Amino acid sequence: MGKNKNVKNDSLGKVECLIIFKCNCRCIMCSTGMQIDRSINSRDYCAVKPFEEVIKDIDRAKKMNARGVAFSGGEPNLRKDLILLIKYAKTIGLRHIEVQSNGRVYAYKKYCQRLVNGGVTHFVISLHSYIEEIHDKIMGAPGTFKQTTEGIRNLNSLGVKVNINIVLTKLNYSTLEEHVKFLMKNFDINEIRFTFVMLEGNTCDNPRAIVPHMSDVGPHICKGIDIAKDKASCFIYNMVPCLVPGCEKYINDMGQLDTLLIGPDFEASLDEERKGKKIKSKECEKCKYDKICYGIWKKYADLYGISELKSVK
Ligand code: SF4
Repeated sequence: MGKNKNVKNDSLGKVECLIIFKCNCRCIMCSTGMQIDRSINSRDYCAVKPFEEVIKDIDRAKKMNARGVAFSGGEPNLRKDLILLIKYAKTIGLRHIEVQSNGRVYAYKKYCQRLVNGGVTHFVISLHSYIEEIHDKIMGAPGTFKQTTEGIRNLNSLGVKVNINIVLTKLNYSTLEEHVKFLMKNFDINEIRFTFVMLEGNTCDNPRAIVPHMSDVGPHICKGIDIAKDKASCFIYNMVPCLVPGCEKYINDMGQLDTLLIGPDFEASLDEERKGKKIKSKECEKCKYDKICYGIWKKYADLYGISELKSVK
């Protein structure tokens, strides 16, 4: 086995700030799709969190001794003052400054340079497929694949390795291995997040067309990790150990997540969020992971049941 790159979990000790509910994509599984619709349809809805309030959230991250802050949305790069927020986070000494993005704007290299100079330490970019039509269909916006891949090349040319988030849906999971090969061959990748799609936001409009069975996806994730693990850190989100045999250690949500999510009008600890929203089966009682596994999301169980769970000896 190669060097285990999974020694440091970059999603721990973070305050994640949802700073804007506007986007230049329309992802079929967007978890904030409802708020983005509202920002389009209602003038009264505050889709952009005021600058001073985000500054307070960043200060809170510092006071809580969090390792860092993540800016997400919507598409955080649509905020003209994002660079000022990044610089502020850097000035007060936060070590981890992350921007989660669909990556389209990174097609502008000068803009990438500004973010890098400003202090971004982690670029988390969604790239769900190596097949242009599939990625653009998932993102709900033609041209996204070309811009995002150009953006990754721009960041790489500035000496920045990127973190890729792959949300696994019915459209892309069966070609995951090819996608991981494409990523490893063409780009400098620091980390790959294998994220099973959540039943939130836009996914709920047509869940059976978007959500695959977890037991179908698990083997593809394991093969993907096998391809990437010697060169990039790998993390699995929204999965349970019994469905990714051999890859249990890559599951992100078994231990403390230690992430505080702050939106414009809500906040939630991700550790508290999952309590009561996940479910297990009779099988779990005889499983070796019973004490540390939280089970699957109830919304998934409502859709497909819990019969996929099989105890691990
Ligand atoms: S505890 Fe249940 S859900 Fe978790 S790995 Fe074991 S059988 Fe699967």
